[in-house]
Amino acid sequence: MNAERDAAIRTIANKQPIAFARGELRVPELFGANVFGPQQMRARLPETAFKALQLCLTQGQELGPGLADQVANAMKEWAIERGATHFTHWFQPMTGSTAEKHDSFASLEDGRLMMEFSGKALIKGEPDASSFPSGGLRATFEARGYTAWDPTSPAFLRETTNGSTLCIPTAFCSWTGEALDEKTPLLRSLEAINREALRMLRLLGDQKATHVYPTLGCEQEYFLIDRDFYLRRPDLIATGRTLFGTKPPKGQELEDHYFGSIQPRVLAYMQECENELWKLGVPVKTRHNEVAPQQYEIAPIFERTTVAADHNMICMEVLKQVAQKHGFHCLLHEKPFAGINGSGKHNNWSLSTDTGENLLEPGHTPHENMRFVVMLTAVIRAVDAHADLLRCTIAHAGNDHRLGANEAPPAIISIYLGEQLSEVVDNIVAGTTARSEKRKDTMRLGVTALPPLPRDATDRNRTSPFAFTGNKFEFRAVGSTQASAKPNAVLNTIVADALAGLVDQIEKLKAQKGLDAAINEVVIETLRKHKRVLFNGNGYSAEWHAEAAARGLPNFKNAVDAIGNFCAEKNVAMFERFGVLTAKEAESRMNIQFEAYCKAISIEGLSCLSIARTMLLPAAQAHQGAVAQSIAAAKALGIDVSGQHKCLATVSALIEQLIARIDDLGAQFEHAEGHPGTPQEHARVYRDKVATSMQKVRETADALETMVNDAFWPLPKYREMLFVQ
Ligand code: ADP
Ligand code: MG
Repeated sequence: MNAERDAAIRTIANKQPIAFARGELRVPELFGANVFGPQQMRARLPETAFKALQLCLTQGQELGPGLADQVANAMKEWAIERGATHFTHWFQPMTGSTAEKHDSFASLEDGRLMMEFSGKALIKGEPDASSFPSGGLRATFEARGYTAWDPTSPAFLRETTNGSTLCIPTAFCSWTGEALDEKTPLLRSLEAINREALRMLRLLGDQKATHVYPTLGCEQEYFLIDRDFYLRRPDLIATGRTLFGTKPPKGQELEDHYFGSIQPRVLAYMQECENELWKLGVPVKTRHNEVAPQQYEIAPIFERTTVAADHNMICMEVLKQVAQKHGFHCLLHEKPFAGINGSGKHNNWSLSTDTGENLLEPGHTPHENMRFVVMLTAVIRAVDAHADLLRCTIAHAGNDHRLGANEAPPAIISIYLGEQLSEVVDNIVAGTTARSEKRKDTMRLGVTALPPLPRDATDRNRTSPFAFTGNKFEFRAVGSTQASAKPNAVLNTIVADALAGLVDQIEKLKAQKGLDAAINEVVIETLRKHKRVLFNGNGYSAEWHAEAAARGLPNFKNAVDAIGNFCAEKNVAMFERFGVLTAKEAESRMNIQFEAYCKAISIEGLSCLSIARTMLLPAAQAHQGAVAQSIAAAKALGIDVSGQHKCLATVSALIEQLIARIDDLGAQFEHAEGHPGTPQEHARVYRDKVATSMQKVRETADALETMVNDAFWPLPKYREMLFVQ
């Protein structure tokens, strides 16, 4: 075996589970210990200030400068008591990750250093925005942007080896007021869905609820591989996925990893992650082995969307940081390894009222049922009318390896309701058919109770991108690396749009027909029009692809085809109508998505080139040289070498092919780099030329991996990364 790989394996063999300083606190006290939440605020603010702040938080009132100073001071004292020296506005620029610029609390007064934090510094920051993607929104002369405190997501303290930092969740905008981040549209979408859902509730006779908000629980999948392997894989370091590697003799076919017993080193890692996350107020609950070898999942208890979206960002950060200490590397990429399952982020979504009701919970009374069916109808209408847009929100280079490949949800957006609920929908739709025998079991909304719907985990269809699971929808096509803000901003907006449409229609009909009849008619009409998006069968099958086409459902097979729809006229009009994005903001987001695609493929292309040229080709040539020498020596002794000759000829032919394919990749790469045109045209070139050429290099290199002397092969192999522990 190659000496480097051998050394890595020997190191790994001696690694033990790592203990961490657990402290005295039990989980209930530990939970949120590093969060400046309502309890801390109540304890540290005068009663009047606390009440005023609560009003700001619940009613969206503006925070006056006096109150801001009080809050900032309380926050600072709390943080300093816990060892903080710095604070940072923590935000989500359109890079897909979070950003932070630390400032200390220090200020000088008469030559003495004081620890200070003003209301102004809490509310507003001014990081230089010129190096964040803006998609053309921001000319360099107005490069400045500002961050603004989002008081709906609590500040938290991040502890590191040498001190703590106070992190303040913020939104990030340009001076001209355009959103430069993922958070702002999400916050705007919450207002839209609150407004439209409340209109619907009022129409249905609910006078109590004063606020409706979406809830979110993100199931996060990830891979762990040993850091000693990771550091020997330049492709993983640069791109997060393996650009080379043959399938190991054993993959996931034995299905022995899923829910298997968790290996002690991995469990120790998970426990430390959970401990860290609990301190940060992230309510993580579930951990288990996933389908692929070395693949795992962590899932929290759901929360309000803004908090849950921030918490998922924190979760991804913690997973990565803690991994290093435990000698692992955490891979969040959608497809780190070819030939085995990739990773997703199941986006569990529902709507809640401030009176504690889940609007997607099938009820017990006819009235509750009516509300449920109306909400269900709104989601069905939303997803069908905006499948193209929903598809955009999950379109990126990494997710292309999952969606439509034979293991993840297909790229066709459809909704799974399960048998019972589908029957309910069919019955509602049949309500207007004249056939009397059908009428007997026809449901009348507001009059008939729904049959009890079983919430049975075994009934789940893993192949659906968007599934109803008892009292929530699960958007399963979201990629594991993704920030949840974008898909949720869009999900909220399209449901707000559908609710608005339904309310308008019902109100129009109400005067002449009465409320119940109006609701019935609009629901039936809407379901009839949009039920083509419902599909309970196998989403992977070829029949579904044909049927979806016949039903007229869009099928955007890859990111580049999908992204352009973001700015379809109907989508931009909707974003503007609900104040979620302006046309300019929408366009900039689309451009950024195309650019991100190009950059991802470009980095992969360069990484592939350099590994193939400088590591794999030399390894193959060394092997070729050794075999040639050995053949020459044997031949000199008069030994029959015809078999060996054949082997050498095969390897040599592959080496020639590798060189040709490397040259082609280099040429395609240069062509793509210099290609003029729109961001979309640019992205097409990367997809059609660079990505395909890269795949060809991989095929040849992988063939060589199966032949070249193991002692010469420099890259840790799949069988090692996935199975050596
Ligand atoms: P699984 O889908 O793996 O069987 P669960 O049904 O327990 O697991 O739920 C998965 C995720 O869905 C969890 O994060 C959970 O908190 C979240 N979830 C449950 N109810 C809701 C809800 N009403 N709104 C949003 N997320 C929810
Ligand atoms: Mg699930």
